[in-house]
Amino acid sequence: MLADGDTGFRLRVPRGFVARMQWGDARDPLLMQVLPAAAELLEAPHYSSDPVGDMDARVGTGLLHKYAGRALLIATGSCAIHCRYCFRRHFPYAEETAASGQWREAIDYLRKSADVDEVILSGGDPLSLATPKLAELTRALAEIPHLRRLRIHTRLPIVLPERVDGELLDWLQTIPLPKVMVLHANHANEIDETVAEACQRLRDAGVSLLNQSVLLRGVNDSADALAELSERLIACGILPYYLHQLDRVQGAAHFEVPDAQALALIAELEARVAGYLVPRLVREVPGASGKRAVRS
Ligand SMILES: *Cc1c(COP(=O)(O)O)cnc(C)c1O
Ligand code: SF4
Repeated sequence: MLADGDTGFRLRVPRGFVARMQWGDARDPLLMQVLPAAAELLEAPHYSSDPVGDMDARVGTGLLHKYAGRALLIATGSCAIHCRYCFRRHFPYAEETAASGQWREAIDYLRKSADVDEVILSGGDPLSLATPKLAELTRALAEIPHLRRLRIHTRLPIVLPERVDGELLDWLQTIPLPKVMVLHANHANEIDETVAEACQRLRDAGVSLLNQSVLLRGVNDSADALAELSERLIACGILPYYLHQLDRVQGAAHFEVPDAQALALIAELEARVAGYLVPRLVREVPGASGKRAVRS
């Protein structure tokens, strides 16, 4: 373990998430996701600080337009948890968030872009903004006639299910667009009863739930772990969406799973569970028109 600050990305984890770890297990899959490790300081070839080309896709403060039809708004740089493998750990968030009243530029771009019909609130974690702030944003979005969907990429209902409170649910229910929430859980142990209940409340508020995971060595790199995760997700009404191959961000190389092993895991999963419980194995390739399927 490293002292806080050595990696430029502090240890941060909600108590409730810590409580889901197995005490005494130094290789606990939840602990591994948040504990700073000396391996983060190793310089790895082919790893960079902006592995997915975010700075090239920027079309306004905090707005990324990479793929047809959808634009991603970095609503805030803050997260309730600091995941060690995160590709955004080096992104210049102080300048590049659309929060703090600087939404005008992003909203103007979206208003002018009739080809964008879906806005993705992302971050950081958009739900780390206060609900009234989110409501202010979605009121502005709701006035753009060509928007047909709102998507929210968030890990908060998993790591801090208390965030799914009455105020948040009231806000979601006022948004006059279909709502898709893409959650982020990597291991079945992340989803306890409190998380299941939060997901139920979200679904009752009319939100469709999907999940994306990152394939992480030592966390979920076995067919058992992936199958158990999918089973746990569907039990909570969440469909597995993507299993991401790691973005090659400096400090995360020790989590990488080789493509051949990743493909073998997916093949094993396909042989064991229903087709809709198999997430799509993808990787982000700078300049590509979408997330790219990993193939042999
Ligand atoms: C991942 C991503 C999206 C969403 O892609 P989907 O394949 O629709 O989930 C949109 N914009 C950016 C910039 C992204 O990185
Ligand atoms: S919650 Fe998401 S954006 Fe925040 S550190 Fe974790 S992976 Fe990165």
